[in-house]
Amino acid sequence: EKVFAGKVALVTGGSRGIGAAIAKRLARDGATVALTYALAKEKADEVVRSIESAGGRALAIQADSADAVAVRNAVTETVRAFGRLDVLVNNAGIAVFHPLDEFSLDDFDRMVAVNVRGVFVATQEAARHMGQGGRVITIGSCTADRMPVAGGGPYAMTKGAVAALTRGLAHDLGPRGITVNNVQPGPTDTDMNPADGPQAERMRKAMPVGRHGHADEIASMVAYLASPEAGFVTGASLTIDGGYNA
Ligand code: NDP
Repeated sequence: EKVFAGKVALVTGGSRGIGAAIAKRLARDGATVALTYALAKEKADEVVRSIESAGGRALAIQADSADAVAVRNAVTETVRAFGRLDVLVNNAGIAVFHPLDEFSLDDFDRMVAVNVRGVFVATQEAARHMGQGGRVITIGSCTADRMPVAGGGPYAMTKGAVAALTRGLAHDLGPRGITVNNVQPGPTDTDMNPADGPQAERMRKAMPVGRHGHADEIASMVAYLASPEAGFVTGASLTIDGGYNA
């Protein structure tokens, strides 16, 4: 019997990168998976097809994480389609870096809306549908603990915010048997942070393992936290960064 057999997961931002890897991993382990995306409908449909061709069930939902109504609807649509919700993975995020003097408040507000407010709204709505054994996992960032370059203060702030939110929400949901955790990746090879991008060399030099992470490696930690085995882990931020912060 697969570990997530009979369970339903919702992954925000599941069309590409880390979120797509998480959606596929949970599906491989037996979960039925809904995933949201903002723009990349083709990519989202591709993830659904890949899950279905491996014998799983999946659904793609367009929902901008900055739009609270769309986020709530994505949660209720998941429950309507699949009958329940066991695992929420708050993965959707954007990274806007600018020199301090050029950082617009529109960029600041958009990043807070997607990376922080969207996480709160999704968790609030998802919790209404979860029972004992429910799991909330947010993808934060190792930059919550250490931001080594200029221009990334507001991004690091949003990831520090979800770490703190995680600690608080663990108290709201612990009594109901629901755990709330935060996974903090380091440099991971995706469109957001390609292993051959302009910052890649600097990052690699700062990592004891000397390479970017693979999205599958992040998905593996998420799969552990989502599993019944992880029932004693809550309110935690788990860093998975190849030693970037070490
Ligand atoms: P990508 O940019 O490669 O993918 C982002 C995903 O999120 C896409 O599926 C995208 O969908 C979706 N998304 C973006 N904005 C929104 C939105 N407003 N509403 C709904 N979905 C949205 O990023 P990664 O996979 O690299 O990052 C995933 C998470 O991991 C983020 O929270 C990021 O901050 C975090 N992270 C990443 C690291 C890295 O090195 N890659 C390191 C540390 C943390 P669409 O294409 O449709 O817009």
